[in-house]
Amino acid sequence: MRRVLLSLMAILISLSTRAEVFLIEDVRIFNGVDAELMHGNVLVVDGIIESVSSDPIAAPEGAIVLAGGNRILTPGFIDLHVHLSMHTPASVGTEHATSVGARSVAAASFFLDHGFTTVRDAGGTHPDLARAFNSGQLYGPRIFPSGAIVSQTAGHGDWRARHEPNPAHTGGSPYLAADNSILADGIDATLVAVRENLKNGATQIKIMGGGGVMSDFDPIHTLQPSPAEIRAAVQAAGDWGTYVLAHAYTSEAVTRLVENGVRCIEHGLLIDDATARLVKKNNVAISTQLVIFRSLVGMDNLSDVQKEKAHQVRAGQENLIALLKKYDITTGFSTDFIFGQYAGLPREFTERAEFWTNAEVLRQATSESAEIIRMAGKLNRHGNFGEIREGWVADLLIHEGELLNDLSQLADPKSNISLIMKNGDIVKNSM
Ligand SMILES: [Zn+2]
Repeated sequence: MRRVLLSLMAILISLSTRAEVFLIEDVRIFNGVDAELMHGNVLVVDGIIESVSSDPIAAPEGAIVLAGGNRILTPGFIDLHVHLSMHTPASVGTEHATSVGARSVAAASFFLDHGFTTVRDAGGTHPDLARAFNSGQLYGPRIFPSGAIVSQTAGHGDWRARHEPNPAHTGGSPYLAADNSILADGIDATLVAVRENLKNGATQIKIMGGGGVMSDFDPIHTLQPSPAEIRAAVQAAGDWGTYVLAHAYTSEAVTRLVENGVRCIEHGLLIDDATARLVKKNNVAISTQLVIFRSLVGMDNLSDVQKEKAHQVRAGQENLIALLKKYDITTGFSTDFIFGQYAGLPREFTERAEFWTNAEVLRQATSESAEIIRMAGKLNRHGNFGEIREGWVADLLIHEGELLNDLSQLADPKSNISLIMKNGDIVKNSM
């Protein structure tokens, strides 16, 4: 027994003192920004990219050398809009929190297995769970949690049944559906909801800023919350040095949100030209998604109201993409898969490639998404990531084949992503 303990201790000591130096040689580097690949080598020391060079780099003593074999190296991918904790229609209603948590862990591992080293949870997932991932206790990407989605009564995050009393009238908890959402009406309640999320560890705040598809009671045209409530959320987030992202589709909703300080619009499918111009002028990002809106119109378990709303917003997708391109609006890469539809993740790459070049899509999924996440300011405790640059965090992928010619290979990460490094740790290596 003692011997076993001693050898276990030896293993633990060797793990904690093991060289954290990796030299990746002979790779073609997509740095997250430039379409041109650079042939070269990358040195990683203690989780940070210490050196990127087209010249040979001498291996420091104790370095683990990885022979890249002229394969393509990219930054790890980033998804700006996930809901790890929303798995079945029941999970935004009746599923117990332990089950929601277990499924969230499975969803997170799916993302990391597909090369996603960072996700921004656009609401729902409890920051405690994010902490467990971010400290390395659980297998998954780095998570930037938004905490519970802040919604007004009758808003897109009010998932009560029609007959259920309002907690504000009964003194009940304002948290709904395994804490995925929190009801807040009025300035004071909004301040409390936002500050509760910040206390729990949210790195940014998500509000419902207009009508949505998957809620039965709020038509798409509705404006949610009032300008004063939006400003309260923005103020409380701003006091912590971070920002508000908001769900919205229409020009009216997006205009109100932008004019009251929201920095990132989620979806935005129905905006017009003037609104796109306003968004650009205010340096606001629009994080939109392709696959989910194309899939929703075909899903048969939606109510008639939801189906109609799905068609309504889907119709705006091509126009929005044209406006994003016309005004060069920062958009990043995001999917918004709910109810276990994660299998559609690789399609988000290929369907974006109908509108953007493959290099542009990869830029969205790396440097551009990282730029949006960095709006969390001092609440980002993870350093700079999303680009292969000296001094930045080593989130790296090595790909088989010619990724920049064919994004469809990302549908089979088991065969086609041969190295996943997150934060300088090798998560997968099949080279
Ligand atoms: Zn969402």
